[in-house]
Amino acid sequence: METPVRIDSRFPNMGTTIFTVMSRLAAECGAVNLSQGFPDFQAEPALFDAVHRHMLAGRNQYAPMAGMPELRQAIVDKVAALYGVRYDVESEVTVTAGATQAIFTAIAAFVRPGDEVIVFEPVYDSYVPAIETVGGTAVYAQLTFPDYVPDWEQVARLITPKTRMIIVNSPHNPTGSLFSTVDREKLAKLISGTDIVVLSDEVYEHILFDGEQHASLCAHPELATRSIVVSSFGKTYHITGWKIGYVVGPAALMAEFRKVHQFNVFTVHTPSQLGLAEYMQDAGRHLRLAAFYQEKRDFFRQLLAATPFELLPCRGTYFQLARYDRISDLPDREFAEWMTREVGVAVIPVSVFYADGRDDRVVRFCFAKQESTLKAAAERLGKAFL
Ligand code: PMP
Ligand code: GLN
Repeated sequence: METPVRIDSRFPNMGTTIFTVMSRLAAECGAVNLSQGFPDFQAEPALFDAVHRHMLAGRNQYAPMAGMPELRQAIVDKVAALYGVRYDVESEVTVTAGATQAIFTAIAAFVRPGDEVIVFEPVYDSYVPAIETVGGTAVYAQLTFPDYVPDWEQVARLITPKTRMIIVNSPHNPTGSLFSTVDREKLAKLISGTDIVVLSDEVYEHILFDGEQHASLCAHPELATRSIVVSSFGKTYHITGWKIGYVVGPAALMAEFRKVHQFNVFTVHTPSQLGLAEYMQDAGRHLRLAAFYQEKRDFFRQLLAATPFELLPCRGTYFQLARYDRISDLPDREFAEWMTREVGVAVIPVSVFYADGRDDRVVRFCFAKQESTLKAAAERLGKAFL
């Protein structure tokens, strides 16, 4: 249909998110899709049963704006057990429609036109569009290549009186790197005495390997007082399509968050919240996740060991980065497309997570897949490269 409206695009240069682009290409080409991050296996029936039971019991109307009390209580209890801090159930936790909405809402609540927000490159693709939508400016710090650790001296140089927010993400997508307790300390020192709010994207909080402990900002007494911490049930319980997550933070920050949240989504799917509140009672379900994914990581790395890909360390998340300069000198976007079309394995090019398109010839594989899927991918890689 034609429109008579003359559009002055707000985002003339914005394309479609790489996750949609690559998943669509993978489907078109019949490629094994190791690009977009989502599991290809089922969650446990107990979770579905719980949600269904609540639906049949008539729990199908609007939940309270901040989330069902049962779920807020379960979240607060989990955070207290893991990180030693007890948020207030009424005023310091909000259930969101996934982490993406939580991040967008937090940015909209705190960032005003002209404000600066420091992000770390490679940066997850939803942060900067959210900052720019509300008139803020993204300021880019770098995770150093190839270890992907923060350079705090650089961050110190980037802080100005206009810095309103710093967004951190650990375990980190796409690199699988982790914030250490030393990083946490350095961040706390840098922003102590300022009015900078920290938005901490911790959606992979339960997926850390080799005995590493998650350096949640919740567990840092000083940072916790100025942070909104985001998590997502999609990652933890293999239900990325449900789009349910949550934020925790000090009451005064949460009050601002909710001012936007109430007119942004208002409230989230009631029976799912009740089902999750029940399902969360068994802490083993999130505590076992690290071992579950470590096995997948090791299996996948072993499958790829014989190929010319050079695997970078993967300390958390369900993503594996690989350098491919022994295979090709194509730019990474072209390489990812070629892999999808010709080799039959879809991956994510890492340059899309850099504002200037910096290309270290690295691609990201998602290993949140059944062994048979990972094997099928490895067979195709073997045929192409061995
Ligand atoms: N942040 C990061 C780092 C992610 O990887 C993702 C999803 N893969 C999200 C946020 C968004 O999570 P959700 O699907 O709950 O919106
Ligand atoms: N965050 C997931 C990934 O990194 C994808 C989520 C999305 O498609 N927006 O692959």
